[in-house]
Amino acid sequence: MSTIKLLTTGGTIAMSHDASTGKVDRPSNQVLSGWLNGEIAVVSEDVCHRSSPQMTIVELNAVLQAVRDSLADPGIDGVVVTHGTDTLEETAYFLDLQLPWGKPVIVTGAMRASNEAGTDGPVNLMNAVYAAASESSRSKGVLVVMQDQIHAARYVTKSHTSSLLAFQSPESGPIGWVRNGKAEFRYAPAPDTVYGEASVSSLGSVMLIKAVLDMGAEWIDFAIGKGAKGIVLEAFGQGNVPPSLLPGIKRAIAEGVPVVLVSRCIGGEPQGTYAYEGGGAMLQELGVVFARELNGPKARLKLAVLLASGKNEADIRAAFQ
Ligand code: ASP
Repeated sequence: MSTIKLLTTGGTIAMSHDASTGKVDRPSNQVLSGWLNGEIAVVSEDVCHRSSPQMTIVELNAVLQAVRDSLADPGIDGVVVTHGTDTLEETAYFLDLQLPWGKPVIVTGAMRASNEAGTDGPVNLMNAVYAAASESSRSKGVLVVMQDQIHAARYVTKSHTSSLLAFQSPESGPIGWVRNGKAEFRYAPAPDTVYGEASVSSLGSVMLIKAVLDMGAEWIDFAIGKGAKGIVLEAFGQGNVPPSLLPGIKRAIAEGVPVVLVSRCIGGEPQGTYAYEGGGAMLQELGVVFARELNGPKARLKLAVLLASGKNEADIRAAFQ
């Protein structure tokens, strides 16, 4: 028999629907206590009780520490974290950046509250526990289980506001499935560097700016003026921005503020293809770091972790290759 540690943080998976108001806002532990059968022993601990938009670095670090403590316990074979879906991918990736690959760590949530028709909480929780207890889930980084799909934390994103199939990995698809109580994998994500020594005390100083048509130069100036330690630009297409941003980008780089670029497209990777004013080739010449594989929120977390690890410009550039 395996023993799985269940760490709860709140979110819809721990809420019930209030018929009188039509709102989902009352916490309930019903889902978390009522659905597990006797095949696997589950020990649970509440880390916090937050809707996921309310998560801050304080809760993220508490989750990270709770997972670390659980993994260090020889009596625990795997860990499941339950989380609100809105920012689930960020917490999962924050853990992925800092936890050693070994015992399974699975993050799951629910799109429907515990007392709504067709709630997905129980099946997601069951499958997450099964995945955490599966030998095949070891050493694959932090995994996200929703429905019966298994996604790599690095690739998964919430792609729909309400669908039960909201969680997708646009470029890679799910890396595996939970079938008949076991995790089965089609392939494993490539191993990535783990920043185990990072101690992130603030996320607010790494700012994410999305490129939009005809934006003003002051967007980046605002970030620099507010003391940004790093800037992530969610650029157009293959990695292009409005020319109005160029003076701000130059100033940030001149002041030692790393500027990391991702694409706002849901698939593909940014490249230095275009040499026109504001094009990717020009941005690369200016020293903008092009990030592979990641969306904007995840690149922001990675930059925060790298900065907290004391990485220099060259390290940061290499880490995003
Ligand atoms: N707003 C909720 C949250 O992220 C949604 C959910 O859990 O599905 O906490």
